[in-house]
Amino acid sequence: MPPRSRFKAGLLAVLLVIFAIVAPISYLGWRQTVPGVRASRALPRFIGQTPAFTVTLEASRGNVTRAEVRVVQGGRPVTVAKSDAPLGPRAELPVRFETASLGLREGAATLEVWARDDFWRPFRGAERPIVSTPVTIDLTPPKVEILAATRYVSPGGVQLVAFRVSDAQRTDVTVGQRAFPSFAYGPPDKGARVALVALPYDHAAGTPIAITARDEAGNVAARGVPGQLKPRAFPRDTIKISDAFLQIKVPELLPQRPPSQPLLDAFLVINREQRKQAETTKREVGARTAETPLWEGPFTQPRNTKVFSNFAETRTYVYEGRAVDTQVHYGYDLASTKQSPVPAANAGVVAFAGPLTIYGNVVILDHGLGLQTLYAHLSSIEVKVGDRVTKGQELGRTGATGLAIGDHLHFEVLVSGVSVTPLEWWDAKWIRDRVNRPLKEAGLPEIGNAGGVARDGPARPVSAARRRAR
Ligand SMILES: [Zn+2]
Repeated sequence: MPPRSRFKAGLLAVLLVIFAIVAPISYLGWRQTVPGVRASRALPRFIGQTPAFTVTLEASRGNVTRAEVRVVQGGRPVTVAKSDAPLGPRAELPVRFETASLGLREGAATLEVWARDDFWRPFRGAERPIVSTPVTIDLTPPKVEILAATRYVSPGGVQLVAFRVSDAQRTDVTVGQRAFPSFAYGPPDKGARVALVALPYDHAAGTPIAITARDEAGNVAARGVPGQLKPRAFPRDTIKISDAFLQIKVPELLPQRPPSQPLLDAFLVINREQRKQAETTKREVGARTAETPLWEGPFTQPRNTKVFSNFAETRTYVYEGRAVDTQVHYGYDLASTKQSPVPAANAGVVAFAGPLTIYGNVVILDHGLGLQTLYAHLSSIEVKVGDRVTKGQELGRTGATGLAIGDHLHFEVLVSGVSVTPLEWWDAKWIRDRVNRPLKEAGLPEIGNAGGVARDGPARPVSAARRRAR
């Protein structure tokens, strides 16, 4: 071998030796620096009577093999969740316990998460918690105090409840499964809240109406809202569907209909699906409401109108002699001359203005506290979303847009998107007894007391013979 080649071979050998020493060391070094198990950051800051949360654990290499959650108070650790079984690279450890039964007391404590993986490292140091965070143990539920509530309530009607809660993070006023918002009301030092709740037209006796308050620690207090349920009957009607009606309305409401689809099938899509879509929009609009009442006195019915269909009328749709559908009509149909002015039933803010499926052109006015009025089938709209309107101000003109044949106004009163009978809100005495009296009993200011009586008095349900309902 020439000297040059010998030198090369020597250098190669030296490099190989260096590599043989360095490689395992850096490999071991890498193994040592691989981070251990990580835990989710979203751990509770409060521990209540019965905490329930989940700790998510993630091993950067290997699997999570052991996990434990402890609450440490006064130097004493209490294990509240533990798993010794291999959990895989990512694991969720459910934590559920009864705080008082574990001997934990109200006050400061520390929440610790312990976990290890099965990834081999040259050195394993002393075990330490992977998360250690301060928590407050709070075993006292919020207080709920009902100040007053509307005493007599009916299906398709409204109940006002005034109440006070303390130490709550979240308060729900519910009728069955449906939640209604509540609003701070009256002098701030009194700490009162009010809610308007709607009993749907099919409200069953025994359905609980309740206030549920929850604090940051998840402690819950609930109180039933007192009230006497008075039954209310709603009419039934039959609507005959003609081919002439379908030929006019189906192309307007379902322009994308394939030509092969029978008109009746298209009508059923409109009457079911579009009706449902409108209900969803009503709920969404209902959630955008002023936190203070904007209305004053009773709501007014347009002058010189005839009621020809009532709230919560169950309608059977008949086509060629057979019943093809059943739906509930959620408003009052008021007829007058064609394209008559549509006045705002009360002061408010325009919350919706535009087409709304079967309702045609619609204006929804917000009167605050979840209370809204809806005006449908309009031929024209004179207002836009955000406009403030006064009682009696013209919103547009009546028409027959949407699922209507004759020119009329379809009028609804809504509470957080749930339709209720306008009869209550057209009636000055009802507002006095069922809204302002409970406010007075609660020591709170009455709403819009300046208003007089309804302009045309309350509307009365009419006999089926006088109805020309759609
Ligand atoms: Zn109607």
